[in-house]
Amino acid sequence: MSEKAPLLELKKVSKSFISGGKPLTILNELDLTIYIGETVAITGPSGSGKSTLLGLLAGLDTLSAGEIFLEGTPIHNWNEDQRAAWRRTQVGFVFQDFRLVPSFTAIENISLPLEILGTDAQEAEQKAKDFLDKLGLSERGHHYPHQLSGGEQQRVAIGRAYAHQPKLIFADEPTGNLDPKTSEQVLKSLMTMNENTHTTLALVTHDMELAETMERHVSLKNGRIEQRKS
Ligand code: ADP
Ligand code: MG
Repeated sequence: MSEKAPLLELKKVSKSFISGGKPLTILNELDLTIYIGETVAITGPSGSGKSTLLGLLAGLDTLSAGEIFLEGTPIHNWNEDQRAAWRRTQVGFVFQDFRLVPSFTAIENISLPLEILGTDAQEAEQKAKDFLDKLGLSERGHHYPHQLSGGEQQRVAIGRAYAHQPKLIFADEPTGNLDPKTSEQVLKSLMTMNENTHTTLALVTHDMELAETMERHVSLKNGRIEQRKS
């Protein structure tokens, strides 16, 4: 890799679940560094632990063993409040199934999280409109998720993920529910947004072609990371 500085470092990270009364180790002494400003794809077969890994990186879940450092500071001992604060302020998520709030319009789906973070209501609404504009959705601001196509919903979700200017975006199979043509458009929106905001992006996919478009590609195998391209 380049001279980029580490944003998140996982050192000998393990994660086990209890399954049928027995521990099942999904991640096994895994090492991974995500560098500031890079785009990295994480691939691996279904069930290999990709979503589990993102959950640990994002502070949604806790490790069974090992260490995580955020810009050099250990964070594996953070409590739920500390992890929640980091997620809310520094992290943006894009999920396979969009996860927009059904009773909120496109504008509200982007502006209400900003308001929760303390942005004044009018400013938050303006910001939401600006993001929808950038995503080519200015005509869709007052539509509810059920009135939007899958690709449009995912672009709103991308606006929501970036609107609070997070340090890091986690995208878990962001095009997994979309047809190839729509996937291409959504990916283009995601990458344009990412370039314009200089955000670090960790994207999980089982699409090898998509993975190769990221600056770096690692894959999960037997609970560990293999470098594919750097
Ligand atoms: P991927 O995203 O690569 O498809 P996941 O990270 O979702 O894989 O899951 C990896 C494995 O961990 C699967 O076998 C899954 O059943 C198991 N798993 C994930 N979360 C839990 C959980 N909360 N409890 C028990 N097993 C889990
Ligand atoms: Mg998954």
